[in-house]
Amino acid sequence: MCDLKIDILTIFPEMFKVPLSESIIGKARESGLIEINIYNIRDFTVDKHRMTDDYPFGGGAGMIMKPEPIFAATEYIQKKMGEPADRVILMTPQGKTLNQGMVKALAEEHHIIIICARYEGVDERLRDALVTDEISIGDYVLTGGELPAMVLVDAVTRFVPGVLSRDTLVNESFEKGVLDYPQYTRPRDFRGMIVPDVLISGNHEKIRLWRKKQALTRTLSRRPDLLEKASLDPEDYKLLRDIKSEQLSDLMREDPENEYD
Ligand code: SAM
Repeated sequence: MCDLKIDILTIFPEMFKVPLSESIIGKARESGLIEINIYNIRDFTVDKHRMTDDYPFGGGAGMIMKPEPIFAATEYIQKKMGEPADRVILMTPQGKTLNQGMVKALAEEHHIIIICARYEGVDERLRDALVTDEISIGDYVLTGGELPAMVLVDAVTRFVPGVLSRDTLVNESFEKGVLDYPQYTRPRDFRGMIVPDVLISGNHEKIRLWRKKQALTRTLSRRPDLLEKASLDPEDYKLLRDIKSEQLSDLMREDPENEYD
């Protein structure tokens, strides 16, 4: 049996074909580590015109996704599974912004249903009676929940046991609350831009320290907010002190009124 089963509800099932069949996700599906099924919400309509949306009560712009087919699709899936899904997620810009902690927690579940909305969103009763989690991929509005669902599935799949090596996952951005260090590959000299000497020194301890310092420098300048919650060790704190004093001496050097040089 696979570790994680994800069922996606959408009115545009074709959109998922390539992104969820290629590369790491494709391989994870082929090897049975993850099962992903795409359901067309339209297949759960019962009216002649197979309507999935309707006008909003009270008037206003746009259409709203009807509750019946989405409820019916979810009930069909849960009946087939013989139990409720661990999570029924609505992709919405009004949800909690996705982060690595949420991704890891979702990768530990066994069965997730994801609802992709369109138009002006879903009938509020879906939120009240069906949805367990509302997730946003950022503070901007897209035309539909399909791309956000793909982002979510991609991020979650990476944490399903067996999909990637542990080494790959532990050395990444956000893992300890810091961004990843800079990486280089061949050639060593590209248009006069030379790979830092330390990386070809063969000294593993020096390389480890350089990478750690680079990761902290990068986090300090790009995402200082991350450092507040990061799980840092005494060596990290020492490196941070070094970075800050180096930055301070750089500033002093640049200050035209600096009389102490
Ligand atoms: N009127 C809605 C609102 O302001 O909340 C936005 C509707 S949007 C045009 C259509 C659908 O795209 C949403 O219901 C949601 O499923 C999806 N969507 C758009 N932006 C998103 C985001 N940042 N994160 C997750 N889903 C998003």
